[in-house]
Parts: sequence; C-alpha cells; structure tokens
Amino acid sequence: MNKNSSNTMALAPNTSSKRETVCIFGTGDFGRALGHKMIQSGYPVVFGSRSTQTSSLIPKGAEVFSHAEAAQKAAIIIIAIQRQHYNFLIPLAEILRGKVLVDVSNNLKINQYPESNAEYLAQLVPGAKVVKAFNTVSAWALQSGTLDASRQVFVCGDDMEAKQMVMDIVRALGLTPVDQGSLLAAQEIENYPLQLFPMWKFPILLSLGLTAFLFFYCLARDIIYPYVYDNKDFSFFIAISIPNRICPVLALILLALVYLPGVLAAIIQLYRGTKYHRFPDWLDKWMLCRKQLGLVALAFASLHVLYTLVIPIRFFVRWRISSRIVSQALNNKTEPLNTTNAWLSDSYLALGILGFFLFVLLGITSLPSVSNNVNWREFRFVQSKLGYLTLILCTAHTLVYGGNRFLSPSSYRWYLPNAYMLSLIVPCIVLVVKFVLIFPCLDKPLTRIRQGWERNPQYSE
Ligand code: NAP
Repeated sequence: MNKNSSNTMALAPNTSSKRETVCIFGTGDFGRALGHKMIQSGYPVVFGSRSTQTSSLIPKGAEVFSHAEAAQKAAIIIIAIQRQHYNFLIPLAEILRGKVLVDVSNNLKINQYPESNAEYLAQLVPGAKVVKAFNTVSAWALQSGTLDASRQVFVCGDDMEAKQMVMDIVRALGLTPVDQGSLLAAQEIENYPLQLFPMWKFPILLSLGLTAFLFFYCLARDIIYPYVYDNKDFSFFIAISIPNRICPVLALILLALVYLPGVLAAIIQLYRGTKYHRFPDWLDKWMLCRKQLGLVALAFASLHVLYTLVIPIRFFVRWRISSRIVSQALNNKTEPLNTTNAWLSDSYLALGILGFFLFVLLGITSLPSVSNNVNWREFRFVQSKLGYLTLILCTAHTLVYGGNRFLSPSSYRWYLPNAYMLSLIVPCIVLVVKFVLIFPCLDKPLTRIRQGWERNPQYSE
C-alpha cells in the first residue's frame, strides 16, 4: 500500500464546538489508549465492557457501561476487541442497527482469514455501517504521543457519511486520514502492519546471497590458492582486502540490476507492440524495489570508499612499499616512472570519484523529502540519465582498474578470474542493450508504444 497516497484528505477537522459522544467496546490496551486520546481532544467517551466496574486504568472522564447501555449513548462505536470475540455482538444487532462500527483490529498473519475482519464484522451486524480505521496506529504511540512515524490512518468503508464521521475524528486527534475506498480495501489495510520492510526483502536477500558467494570465491582465489601453491599465509586479507573486493563488485552489480528491469521491460514492450499488457509478476516486483536495490548498492559503494581510504595505513601495504624501496637500494637501481601506469591509476581513481559522487546524488534524490520537491521530469532526468551516467562511470572505473590484466594468465587462479571481472558482466549487458535501444529504429516505435500506440492489439487486456 502506498503510504504517500494522493488520497490523503487535507480537509480541516470538524471544529463544531460540541463533540459527539464516542463509544468504545473493550477496555483493553488499545481501547484505553484511544479513549485517552479522544478525551484529550474533547470527545465524551463511554466504554462498553463485560465488567462495568471502573478501574484506575480507565482514562479519567470516561464512563463504563454494559455493551448494550454504552451503545445507546453514541452513534459511533469503536470495536477495540480481537476478531475471535466478535460473536458477542450478534445479540446486540438490533441496538447496533444504523450505528457506525469502527473496526480497528489486526491479525497475527497476512491473509489469516478468507475475508477481512471488517467484512466479517459487517456480516455479523448487517444493519450497522462498518468502517475500517486506526489499525495502523499502536496503543503505545497513542499513549506516548510518538505518532510522528505513523500519523496516517487508513480508512475504508462502504457508507460515505460514516466514513466522513470517522475521518473527522481522525483529524480531531491530530492524525491524517487516508481514504482507501470501500470495505474491499480492508484486507489490504489489515495486512499492512504485518509487513516487514516488504520492498527491502529482495535487495537484502540478494546482496546477502551474493556476499556469501563472493566471499568464498575470493577466499579460494586470494587466500587458499597462494597457500596451496606458494605456501604463503594471506589469511589477514579477510579483514580488509576481501571486503574491499566484495563491496565494489556488489555495488556495481546491484546498480546494474536497478537498470536491468527497465531494459527488459522495453524489450518486452517492443516484442508485444503494446504497453497495455501486464509485465510478468517477477518483473513488476523487481521494478518496485529498484530504489531499495540502488540504496543497498550505494551502501556497498560507501564501504568500498572507506576501505580504500585506509589502504595507505595498512601494515601490509607499508611493508610492501618499504621492502620494494630497500630492494631498489640494494640493487642500486631506481624504477623509472611508468607514465602509462600513472595514467591508468589516476584515470580509474578519477572515474571512481566521479561515479561515487553521482551515486550519492542519486541516493539523495531518492529520499522522499527531496523527490517531493522536484517534478516528475526532473526526477526522471536524475534517476534515468544521471543513473546511466553513474553506471557508465562505475563500469569504466572497473574496466580501467582491470587495465591490461584482463588477458594476463596470472589473473586466473584455478581458471577463476578476478572478482571485479565478474562484476562487469551485468553492467556491460545493460549498457550494450540500452545502447542498442537508443537507435532510432527501436527508440521511435518504443516511444510510440509508451504513448499508447499498439502494433498487436490482441495483446491488450
Ligand atoms: P486487549 O488488551 O487484549 O483487549 C481486548 C479487550 O477485549 C479486553 O480488554 C476486553 O475488554 C475485550 N474482550 C476480551 N475478550 C472478550 C470477549 N470474549 N467478549 C467480549 N469482549 C472481550 O487487546 P488490545 O491490544 O486492546 O487490542 C484490541 C483490538 O485493537 C484488537 O483487535 C487489536 O488487533 C487492535 N489493535 C491493537 C493495537 C495495539 O497496539 N494494542 C494497535 C492497533 C489495533 P473488557 O474486559 O472491557 O470487556
């Protein structure tokens, strides 16, 4: 569900001087927290409970009655009770006729029941107007006032008037109602709080898998191989050298994976000759998590920068430089400056610096506070044009780093190429295909297809 939905209702709260009494069924954690917040906002609150004995936990100013008595005192009744106990409402159906019942419930699992809790409530009390709301707000946040992260309250229901009444209450509590439409949306609203970083799952699992693979790959090539053939112990490479090999490889592969679905989508659209046919599910999901893939890639690129900055102070590096100087002194021979190598080294560093700078810029523009301040064209320009430029610079950085080592047999150990060579496969494929797609013979029909033209109308849905 889109938290930044444009359906956000920006209307001013109902400022009529006298607020209507609100009834809350259930004196549990959520009922009490909501009651407390409502009393603070000026609503008279009555609780409907199995036990009418008031306790010190009941918010000051609220009264507790039996369910039937409390229901008669208000037009809006908030059902702050778990779904499995809803059966007690059946005998109250007559009293609840015409009332607005607000379902705040959540489940323990996604799609736990065939129908949403709100639809189930509407079936149990057919004469009532059921509205789903408040389930994404926690009792703790209501009570402690720390609602900054979850100020939006998703609201849905079939009766417009009932929905408006509930949205007025939401605004009066200082929250933002987001109209999600009819009660059919309730299942999605109920699933929302159960999701755990849904868009991050694929990028994180992918990077974990690739990290594990690359770690063992580098371990075999850079530590086990020299130990087996030269009896050299380079096990300390695990601390800095290997991470500094894995991070740039992952950053480049993940950055390329941000742009790969775009070129695949273009190929599919060209092949089908229409944009009015859904992409396969896997491609849709992949496209939806491109921002997260890019941010994970940026995190690995930043680690690569940090690891690179400490290279001059590493003991091994200082030892290697000093032993080279000593051997030159002993042989009374100074190595001449190799201008080609100096050019290669400066070029790959310059490309890396520029690539990383644009990478950071891409990351910054993907933040909602920044992207909300640029128009769609500007956002596309940054994410697409600058994004491809970043990919080109980072790929060039890796290519120049490889320099003339690509064809050197010593670069292959147990027939395994250096890890950075592997990192070039996906970006090179993306850049070559993108380059081919720029040709007018492909770009023109693609642009027309994206403007709505269809070559094969049978593909349209
Ligand atoms: P709770 O602390 O377990 O309280 C539920 C209340 O339901 C009880 O205090 C009790 O009130 C009533 N109750 C229990 N068994 C009943 C039965 N057999 N028949 C009738 N009433 C019964 O739960 P809660 O945390 O307040 O949650 C209430 C609802 O709010 C749930 O649907 C939950 O999913 C939803 N919600 C909770 C939170 C949260 O942060 N806790 C956040 C969002 C949504 P009486 O003793 O007064 O009858």
